[in-house]
Amino acid sequence: MKAVVVNQASNGVEVVDHALPTVEYGEALVKVEYCGVCHTDLHVAHGDFGQVPGRILGHEGIGIVQEIGEGVESLRVGDRVSIAWFFEGCGHCEYCTTGRETLCRSVKNAGYNVDGGMSEYAVVTADYAVKVPEALDPAQASSITCAGVTTYKAIKEAGAAPGKWICIFGAGGLGNLAVQYAKKVFNAQVVAVDINQDKLNLAKESGADIIVNGKEVDDVAAYIQEKTGGCHGVVVTAVSKVAFNQAIDSVRAGGTVVAVGLPSEYMELSIVKTVLDGIRVVGSLVGTRKDLEEAFDFGAQGLVVPIVETVDVDTAPDVFDEMEAGKIQGRKVLDFTKLA
Ligand code: NAD
Ligand code: ZN
Ligand code: ZN
Repeated sequence: MKAVVVNQASNGVEVVDHALPTVEYGEALVKVEYCGVCHTDLHVAHGDFGQVPGRILGHEGIGIVQEIGEGVESLRVGDRVSIAWFFEGCGHCEYCTTGRETLCRSVKNAGYNVDGGMSEYAVVTADYAVKVPEALDPAQASSITCAGVTTYKAIKEAGAAPGKWICIFGAGGLGNLAVQYAKKVFNAQVVAVDINQDKLNLAKESGADIIVNGKEVDDVAAYIQEKTGGCHGVVVTAVSKVAFNQAIDSVRAGGTVVAVGLPSEYMELSIVKTVLDGIRVVGSLVGTRKDLEEAFDFGAQGLVVPIVETVDVDTAPDVFDEMEAGKIQGRKVLDFTKLA
């Protein structure tokens, strides 16, 4: 079968012919239809979280269950399911039992420490694969499997509520969906910040009330403070510490900064501002199975519509280059249905 794997020798990815996976107890074999390319795949390919040569990438996978292993009760052949970054938790630790399963210390992550969804067939731990509602287009569902659930969860963490100001730094694959969840699900007022005008224009079409080009506005935080009185919550998806630092200065007293993007850098956090303004800075990692179910549901209702472009699997290395150059609008999604 065709698979997209990490090839760190060339600092990137390659499309290879790979052996078919086998199904063990509690697992299911999925015939992959679509898998989106997330910026996290680029971090993995670059070895930002450690070297994983030969690993099958991808955690925005969607496909149809083809076979179930012994002991599987939660899935049936023919179900459409996700292959997500949160691939499996231990099920019994303090995180798994308190609604914070993505923080499980024995977690498995698709496309990083277990093989992911960028292959014709993938194996999932059946109880952790989330079913995709029938009303949701499968290519769009792929984006919700990471970009959607991550931003849905982050916006909840940011305290989004009707009328509150929520600012999204980075209007890429995650950011565009963040704008949509904030606006259309939480009915918040939304600011989007990016350094690429095309992405900002798309954010505006997707519901942003105010767009800010970080390359054109001198003092981004001051501008946001002036327009909004300070945001109640900020979600940072930008892969740049500049954006994290601006985000801290864009919240009002009592506001929350939610860190989502993963640049390998440090952010500057004024202790005085943190204390005197009572701000909260929190990290947010994808979302639980329940978050994903909810995020899918808003997609199925048509409230949130991921912007996707399906492309041939063979073009994967080019898609990674375009991601690095910041040239992708919405998401590029590898189309495995054409290989059938
Ligand atoms: P992307 O490349 O599609 O989007 C990143 C956006 O940030 C781009 O639009 C880029 O123009 C913008 N940007 C860069 N510098 C900026 C700046 N100074 N100010 C404002 N915007 C700026 O990437 P993506 O797929 O949306 O992923 C974004 C980040 O989120 C990555 O680091 C990824 O690994 C991470 N991520 C985290 C989680 C999580 O669970 N926390 C989940 C998925 C992805
Ligand atoms: Zn991702
Ligand atoms: Zn656990």
